Amino acid sequence: MTYCKAVRKGERFLRENGIEEAGTDAWLLLSFVCGIDRNFYYMHMQTEMPEERQKRYTELLQKRAKRVPLQYITEEQEFMGFRFLVDSDVLIPRQDTEILVEEALKRIRPGMDVLDLCTGSGCIVISILKNIPEICALAADISAKALCVAEKNARLHGVSVRFLESDLFSGVQGSFDVIVSNPPYIPTKEIKKLMPEVRDFEPRLALDGKEDGLFFYRRIIEEGKKHLKPGGFLLFEIGCSQGEEVSFLMRQAGYRETVTVKDLAGLDRVVIGGNHV
Ligand code: GLN
Repeated sequence: MTYCKAVRKGERFLRENGIEEAGTDAWLLLSFVCGIDRNFYYMHMQTEMPEERQKRYTELLQKRAKRVPLQYITEEQEFMGFRFLVDSDVLIPRQDTEILVEEALKRIRPGMDVLDLCTGSGCIVISILKNIPEICALAADISAKALCVAEKNARLHGVSVRFLESDLFSGVQGSFDVIVSNPPYIPTKEIKKLMPEVRDFEPRLALDGKEDGLFFYRRIIEEGKKHLKPGGFLLFEIGCSQGEEVSFLMRQAGYRETVTVKDLAGLDRVVIGGNHV
């Protein structure tokens, strides 16, 4: 089978199995299995694909057809222009979360103490460090397995960050100029309505925001006050329908100048509150 035929066959197979981006996914799997880029592909479309690669490619197409997210197969996802390693112990970094990083970067200066709660793959804190390396960064997660992935990513990007296994603030000491968090925020009842890739393969722990989806915001808002320096900021990623509730919770807890920032689709995505003196 030639490379060209392999992509076409893969695309057809994925489409028949209800995968939306069938063409893209087939190409990405082929590129992953064979270690080739677009250039090589166009130069060698009619070249025969090595036998053992064909076998591997077919196996991975079957995996994808079962709705395993592409990123868990290729074990990587790009975020803020950087490559992050992922596996099924961490949420796959989303483009929407880049808004949170950008808003955090507007408020972070060299020398600041920064905390990332529910760090998962570490994509948020590591992207911040790649942009502003001269900060003191702490990243916490309740999942030891997630922290292993985050540590690998920190090594991969050569940044220095302390990792802490902690249920939110339980093991966190000291106070911070900026606290960022993309906590689990899907209401439990909504999880079954998510696409199979997310519902069946991404870690439940990273998705489930309990009853109304706001469980972790309440706790972080409440306990965060003790860990924010005067003049510090708390920044959250939120689900697009949670903007008003989360900013209300923040104002009620005494945070000042709360703002909501929209994502590229025009949906509420980030809520920020200040701990002004
Ligand atoms: N902080 C990680 C991310 O934004 C993980 C978030 C989570 O597990 N809820 O991708």
